[in-house]
Amino acid sequence: MCGIVGYVGKRSAQDVLLDGLEKLEYRGYDSAGVALALDGGIRVVKSKGRLTALREKLAAQQLAQSFCGIGHTRWATHGAPNDINAHPHASNDGKFAVVHNGIIENYMELREELLRKGYRFESETDTEVIVHLIEMYYAGDFRKAVMKASSRLVGSYALGIVCTDTPDTV
Ligand code: GLU
Repeated sequence: MCGIVGYVGKRSAQDVLLDGLEKLEYRGYDSAGVALALDGGIRVVKSKGRLTALREKLAAQQLAQSFCGIGHTRWATHGAPNDINAHPHASNDGKFAVVHNGIIENYMELREELLRKGYRFESETDTEVIVHLIEMYYAGDFRKAVMKASSRLVGSYALGIVCTDTPDTV
């Protein structure tokens, strides 16, 4: 279990998140990523390896300034340490992105339920079930959807979540 950073404010979220993740580097990690609220959507940028790899990817993309976002350093427990399994993970509708530290012990049964309901999975992580559960339970109230989704989780979970409908909230 590694690190989570979240930011909402007047400064560049990208800068604050990268600085925060740098402070968490000492805990060890295998990949890192950020999700930034941008232009009514969420932009996810993530990379296997050191934070410098993430910094380089972000620099190459020259994104517009964002004032809200989440960041993560991962220590893989479920799924190889690669770009796809790195956090954040996004919902199928693109409305939510989630970072997670911990382990979802009942992720297999949740994954099967969500697959049956038509949700598509991109990663091998236990984490990804969380973001699809939030999408499934969302009916306009971000907080309620998160509470409902987390009531389905067994295990340990520190979460950071953003939603395009409330781009001033983490
Ligand atoms: N269990 C999650 C994963 O493997 C989170 C690991 C962590 O805490 O960094 O992706």
